[in-house]
Amino acid sequence: MLEEQIQMVDLHGQYLRFKEEINGAMQAVTDSCAFINGPQVKTFAGHLADYLQVPYVIPCGNGTDALQIALMALELQPGDEVILPAFTYIAAAEVVALLGLTPVLVDVDPCTFNIDPRKIEAAVSERTKAVVAVHLFGQACDMEPIMALADAYHLYVVEDNAQSIGADYAFSDGKVQKAGTIGHIGTTSFFPSKPLACYGDGGALMTSDEALAARIFMIANHGQECKYQHRRIGCNSRLDTLQAAVLDVKLKHLEEFTEARRSVARQYDEALSSCDSLVIPAKSTFSTHVYHQYTIQVKGGRRNALQHLLKEQGIPSMIYYPLPVHRQEAYRQISRVSGNLDVSIRLCESVLSLPIHTEMSLGQQQYIIEKLKDL
Ligand SMILES: *Cc1c(COP(=O)(O)O)cnc(C)c1O
Repeated sequence: MLEEQIQMVDLHGQYLRFKEEINGAMQAVTDSCAFINGPQVKTFAGHLADYLQVPYVIPCGNGTDALQIALMALELQPGDEVILPAFTYIAAAEVVALLGLTPVLVDVDPCTFNIDPRKIEAAVSERTKAVVAVHLFGQACDMEPIMALADAYHLYVVEDNAQSIGADYAFSDGKVQKAGTIGHIGTTSFFPSKPLACYGDGGALMTSDEALAARIFMIANHGQECKYQHRRIGCNSRLDTLQAAVLDVKLKHLEEFTEARRSVARQYDEALSSCDSLVIPAKSTFSTHVYHQYTIQVKGGRRNALQHLLKEQGIPSMIYYPLPVHRQEAYRQISRVSGNLDVSIRLCESVLSLPIHTEMSLGQQQYIIEKLKDL
């Protein structure tokens, strides 16, 4: 029997483990009442920049804002095209559409679930200005060929790193860089369930380009060059001081959190690799995996049935994502599809993400594995 209900993510259990440290950090903010742009925001941004080894980190309100600010900073014009994966979270397509740009959808790699670099070139047109590389589920996209293509066609590359912060990308010459620091701009989200997460909304942008960093900072702050001098149209997107304080504590433990999820993934891998009816998540050769999700593919059209059976045994699971972008009602008309998107369509019908988090007990995992093997 299980002592506790199995959850996809155990926010409460993790909080209890770091309660004193986190409460102390939050108390310091409430004591100072510096809720907006308190010193903790800068401190955290500095620590994150050190961790990622990137010169500039600009915090903002959430991961979707981060993507919007990134595209605004690149000064894309209405009608410009932005290449995106068809199998992904909606945020990137949404901000592309909001800015009057056209999403161009490209299929993903069947093993890594990330945008297939071999399919990007065929999607490039005269209007194409940028690629958003979404590092899905914990692994980086294959950035080296993406950057080479971007170079050849003069495209900007934005990395949406909401799910894979901490992943290391290895270039073919052996050089290693953190995911999110390779393209022109990287973005991330600190939504409570993400690998680096706060207790509300939060996000950030990363770049190595000083001029872009200045532009991003300006855009996130009402386009202000200095107070009441608005040089460009911006928005209001800030990381709360309270959230920055929580994040600064959690950043110290990020590697340990990642290791905890990796160990859960190893158990799943070992137990499930022999299941003929399932495909375990592939590990790419060029990126480490931080296992934001542990996403299996269920063969034989049995995904929904399996999810239902797991639920009956008290095991939650999630379908990330049930519909590709080009089949979403709001995006059907406005996006351009490049090539066939068969892999994305197939994945939407077969993927299932299993519980994985930093607080999972061995007992819980054995229970999940046993049931999965039976069903
Ligand atoms: C969560 C997420 C976002 C959006 O982040 P918010 O902070 O919720 O706005 C964007 N892209 C990806 C890939 C995500 O997983």
